[in-house]
Amino acid sequence: MEQWKDHVLITDKRMRTFQWFSLLSGRQRIILLITTFIALSVAALGFLGHDESQQGDALGFSTDMPISRIAPGLGVTGKALARELMLPIDVSKSRPLKELKVSDKELSHAVDHLLSHKDSPGKYYLFVALVLVGAVYLNMLGRPDASGVKQRKSWYPRSPYIVVLLVSVLFAGFYLGKSPNPMEGVVKVFKSMVGLYPDSMVKAAALLFFIALAVVGNKVVCGWACPFGAFQELIYSIPVLRRAKKHKLPFALTNTIRAALFLSALLILFGIVGGRTGLVLYHFINPFDLFDLDLGTTSIRATVVAASVGSFFTYRPFCQIICPFGLVSWVCERFSITRVQIDKDRCVQCGACIKACPSDAAKGRVYGASIPADCFSCARCLNVCPEDAITYGPVRVHPANRAQKPARSSQKEGK
Ligand code: SF4
Ligand code: SF4
Repeated sequence: MEQWKDHVLITDKRMRTFQWFSLLSGRQRIILLITTFIALSVAALGFLGHDESQQGDALGFSTDMPISRIAPGLGVTGKALARELMLPIDVSKSRPLKELKVSDKELSHAVDHLLSHKDSPGKYYLFVALVLVGAVYLNMLGRPDASGVKQRKSWYPRSPYIVVLLVSVLFAGFYLGKSPNPMEGVVKVFKSMVGLYPDSMVKAAALLFFIALAVVGNKVVCGWACPFGAFQELIYSIPVLRRAKKHKLPFALTNTIRAALFLSALLILFGIVGGRTGLVLYHFINPFDLFDLDLGTTSIRATVVAASVGSFFTYRPFCQIICPFGLVSWVCERFSITRVQIDKDRCVQCGACIKACPSDAAKGRVYGASIPADCFSCARCLNVCPEDAITYGPVRVHPANRAQKPARSSQKEGK
């Protein structure tokens, strides 16, 4: 009997997903068509510009060469190559590596690792395309015009989101490799400040690019485009261990750990702690190495396994606890142009969206928390409200939101 019920439910969900397109109005279909065309065109530009010729061996580096000849070919500074070869960063850059006791194997490994961090420029285009699709879908297409109010309150089509997540993992991740990615966008800016990259303005521009994408829609770049974010989101979306998933990570704790880690990483990188300038803490826990199929160190393997297994139980553990861009984009949420909004005139604080939200984000928005948790624009809360009080759209201030109701809010928060 139970199996039969499950079957009916799954069939019904599938039917509803297919219904999504049929319930779009003419205006929405035109928007979908134009968005798809622009997104595919932008992504195609990226693929056309993709260069796969970066192979360490093909560059002809050898240990007869000094650091000063090899580093420019890798797009890094002599200090960065010295650090990669486990030499002091102030080692002579003009002596052949052989004289510095560097073996061919060590050089080859260092070159491969540095090349893996070299940006694939085409990927920036793909990020733009994915964010465009996410932002348009959330703002204009997720709620088909021809769906009835009753339908809207019980259903929000998730298949388009899953498709975008798969594109992110497969193409922005495994096909185009680990770099660039939002996490590195943050780390490389600080690395360039200690002389590990020659082009600090370029690195700053890359970070600004990711910040701009995060501002277009509330963290849409994390929610819809980042390959490792998408990887965790897909695992979390597998319908198993539903009870375990009801337990959310407390935002105060995760954000404190994330911020403390970021501060520690900076203190170590600048040599204020440890006295060794140029040591990058995030290198040891960079899960984006997964997309190069090169989980070189035990700590990276442990990070990827912990984040993957953890995602079966809780929402995006790496994003919430570790990622430095998660922290930066959380700050940027204050400036998002479009985001989840709750009409306080309609909201009866029934808790339906809080239950649907995989993190503390909806709770913060319902109760008007001064420091709300990250919202990854996952859309789970958007149609669960019995009062139809939740929308995703351009930021506006409801009259009732301006005049907060502190007494009621704090009462409920304390429950
Ligand atoms: S917070 Fe998550 S989604 Fe955002 S950049 Fe970091 S890993 Fe990617
Ligand atoms: S369910 Fe939570 S994380 Fe997802 S869009 Fe709603 S508030 Fe944001």
